[in-house]
Amino acid sequence: MTKYIQAKILPGVTHWQSPNYFAYYPSNSSVAGFVGEMLSAGLNIVGFSWIASPAATELEMIVLDWLAKMLKLPEDFLSAGRGGGVIQGTASEAVLVVLLAARDKVLRRVGKDALEKLVVYASDQTHSSLQKACQMAGIHPENCRLLKATSSTNYALSPEFLSETISQDLTIGLIPFFLCATVGTTSSTAVDPLLSLGKIAKSNGMWFHVDAAYAGSACVCPEFRHYMDGVEVADSFNMNAHKWFLTNFDCSALWVKDRSALVQALSTNPEYLKNKASQANMVVDYKDWQVPLGRRFRSLKLWMVLRLYGLENLQCYIRNHIKLAKHFENLIAQDPRFEVVTPRIFSLVCFRLLPVRNNESHGNKLNHQLLDAVNSTGSAFISHTVLSGKYILRFAVGAPLTEEKHVNAAWKVLQDKATSLLAESL
Ligand code: PLP
Repeated sequence: MTKYIQAKILPGVTHWQSPNYFAYYPSNSSVAGFVGEMLSAGLNIVGFSWIASPAATELEMIVLDWLAKMLKLPEDFLSAGRGGGVIQGTASEAVLVVLLAARDKVLRRVGKDALEKLVVYASDQTHSSLQKACQMAGIHPENCRLLKATSSTNYALSPEFLSETISQDLTIGLIPFFLCATVGTTSSTAVDPLLSLGKIAKSNGMWFHVDAAYAGSACVCPEFRHYMDGVEVADSFNMNAHKWFLTNFDCSALWVKDRSALVQALSTNPEYLKNKASQANMVVDYKDWQVPLGRRFRSLKLWMVLRLYGLENLQCYIRNHIKLAKHFENLIAQDPRFEVVTPRIFSLVCFRLLPVRNNESHGNKLNHQLLDAVNSTGSAFISHTVLSGKYILRFAVGAPLTEEKHVNAAWKVLQDKATSLLAESL
């Protein structure tokens, strides 16, 4: 079998755990995460209801409370009150379930016929999962407002722009009901101003969701926690432990302040699942907080990560990647042929090779060619985005084994390929 895996499978694998992997956002694996995943595979329970495997539900509640405390989430998000946390497969599922909860909540108030009038707001830098969730939730396509975020706000959503758009929508009889803000956007790690945006959402009776899929992990460090300030006015908060928190894929942590909103939107109660504990309302049945019925014992791997590494080691882990990203940023600054395009906040550096003779369309082609040239060497893997019409290269540090020597080696490949491309374009 090993022979076949080596011959047929591995040549087609992109090695996300390689120390030379700098594309998209990281997807961490670790010994603790792996052991938790193995234990889960061995037990192979299907914990849809509490009764289906009480330890699975109980452990999930406990570890999400722990993680909420590490992130200094407000107490309303803890399981002791009306809120609580749940592990979803992905951030896409997280935004879908809270959108459904918010939609049903507003429709109970204004009447089911108003679906066509409901409006969702976010910046155009928001992850495409929001748009997909809107499609699935039956939101009218024109009512998913992706407001333009520009370089003047470092690609963060402007509260003034949001306010104006909401006022215009209200005057034409639409119903604003959902705002999604992001801490660490996918393209460039922009941070939306949560407090100002959240206040606008609350004063208009809207659900406020915060997507911190990637950057949430950094907020366990006191020096980065301020990027989440304002989360106290949010209704839901999401971070992917499977990105940059040493927890094997998949493990997307979602917290809500009012779990009954999720349950009212997603609960079913068929005869074959009825049991005393659920009927007496004494337990959490996570099937009512998610799309599928069946669910894996995912909390085991997060539990292992938190128990085996602990907060201090996790903080050091994050800080080290941010230090390496800063190092890469300094390397770029020393080469006048390149520029850093947006301020680096976490461990992603957005940069580009400057166009020859300020020819922007040539610049886009040049950077596209540079990306292909670097990736085709197989010695480093980076990805791209487009910001304000410019083709930008993304260098995301975050693989567990990445050290300074790997960053230096990737930079050397980038410089060498840039030299060749510039010589060809003269
Ligand atoms: N939100 C942000 C900010 C992201 O960066 C990503 C993916 O990179 C997502 C959501 C979607 O994540 P998932 O693959 O968990 O659905």
